[in-house]
Amino acid sequence: DELISQIAAGEVVERPASVVRELVDNALDAGARQIAVRLSAGGVRLIAVEDDGGGIPREELPLALRRHATSKIASLAELEAVGTMGFRGEALASIASIAEVNLLSRHTGADGAWQLDARTGELRPAARSQGTTVEVRELFFATPARRKFLKTDATELAHCVEAVRRHALARPDVGFAIWHDGRLVEQWRAADTPAQRIADVFGADFIGQSVDVDHGEGQLRVHGHAGVPDAARSRGDQQFFYVNGRFVRDKVLLHAARAAYEDVLHGQRQPVFVLHLQIDPARVDVNVHPTKIEVRFRDGREVHSAVRHAIENALAAPRA
Ligand code: ADP
Ligand code: MG
Repeated sequence: DELISQIAAGEVVERPASVVRELVDNALDAGARQIAVRLSAGGVRLIAVEDDGGGIPREELPLALRRHATSKIASLAELEAVGTMGFRGEALASIASIAEVNLLSRHTGADGAWQLDARTGELRPAARSQGTTVEVRELFFATPARRKFLKTDATELAHCVEAVRRHALARPDVGFAIWHDGRLVEQWRAADTPAQRIADVFGADFIGQSVDVDHGEGQLRVHGHAGVPDAARSRGDQQFFYVNGRFVRDKVLLHAARAAYEDVLHGQRQPVFVLHLQIDPARVDVNVHPTKIEVRFRDGREVHSAVRHAIENALAAPRA
């Protein structure tokens, strides 16, 4: 069972940033409004994610670390229509098999907080306000081969920041802070609009040169912001696609975006965007890969043309 856990963990956890993504997913699923991520040594020594969400009841703390213990899905039918980020009940169990995981949580309405010690499995009363702190220490301690493949602290930190940035762009209503070795590296305060959050993350000049995208409705809608930066300022790492709120990297979507920029701007601009695809969950499979970063569309062509037209229309419209 330990071995199976470690193999599964290898698929989910490639580096500290993978842990960060899973923990922030969980915090958002729990309804957090403020999330703090504390890292030490690029996340290898410590990743702590602290939220003010609904918390975990005392009796469920040990369950949270167990495989397929998810509180989010009751049936296979529900798996089709997942609205939450997590749904496999695998992340914490996997992480716990390759690192030391401590849980500290105070459930809504509970009198106090409880702490679960990873090593002893012991539950102890503790102090904190409503919400959860998950601490992950000494990642890959039991799999030194994997640990060897990690890059410098600075590089791992950059990946961790990128993982939080992906969440932050999708959830402007939530405040985020990232600390590294006691230093505040990034802070994005809860914003009133997606545009405000994008300005906070990319810099105000990005949003000054962006166009609103909003196309389609109901079962297939594309909305967000597309930027037209000066060629000199353009960067390839600013392409963010979300499918039903989940960050994805998908060839169909990226190709459609590139085609739209090519059609309207003839390659004079690098595509820069934050775009959301809302699609009927029955028309997309998010269960393709353990990291949930890939999707498979039932009708890729239709999605491609919707995204392409959405961006083309926005880029071609006269700008203010
Ligand atoms: P999943 O998210 O797929 O359900 P996880 O392994 O990520 O599986 O988490 C297991 C369970 O632990 C969740 O279903 C949830 O009940 C609980 N949990 C984990 N993190 C949090 C959190 N930050 N706040 C509240 N509950 C949490
Ligand atoms: Mg999860």
